[in-house]
Amino acid sequence: MSSQRALYNEMHSELDSRTAPDSPDGIEGHVRNILKHMGEDPDREGLLKTPYRVARAFEYLTKGYQQDPKEVINNAIFTEEDYSEMIVVKDIDFFSMCEHHILPFFGRANVAYIPNKRIVGISKVARLVDVYARRLQVQERITTQVANTLMEELNPLGVGVIITAEHLCMRMRGVEKQNSIVTTSATLGAFRTHQETREEFITLVNGRQR
Ligand SMILES: [Zn+2]
Repeated sequence: MSSQRALYNEMHSELDSRTAPDSPDGIEGHVRNILKHMGEDPDREGLLKTPYRVARAFEYLTKGYQQDPKEVINNAIFTEEDYSEMIVVKDIDFFSMCEHHILPFFGRANVAYIPNKRIVGISKVARLVDVYARRLQVQERITTQVANTLMEELNPLGVGVIITAEHLCMRMRGVEKQNSIVTTSATLGAFRTHQETREEFITLVNGRQR
């Protein structure tokens, strides 16, 4: 056994069976195979720890599967009888992975709602976006999931979500118009039925670019 191989084994000794390198179904074993298919030597020095690193990266980038979006919101809801103006949380940075290519897409989410006595901590809105983004996704679905969850959990007068993002599966693969930014939106309640509300939201989002 080479010293590199020994180091590799030592590094893995503390891991549970789910992520054991020798488990044929583990991500690491599959990454090793992918490297071989590329024509690479997974045992060369630079790649020796790569399956381990990729598995850890995937765990982090898809940790949203282990998180309950409703729990995130419900732990931070409070009652506010008097405030019924639009609340806008702007420029929430997010990073996600497209489910078609498992490549990153990333951008900013803008989330607004008009409360009906129930208000949620602002940081939790950003957390909600993160929980949905840390999964294999399409941008359209994050947009509607964030809107629907807020609608269900807060019962507000309306919700609006606008997400802009760039997709590396477009840019890196040389798809035409590769610099284009994709914009998606979801509107519920007053944001859908009242044009003035929708326009106020769009004005607030566009008002002061970061
Ligand atoms: Zn894609």
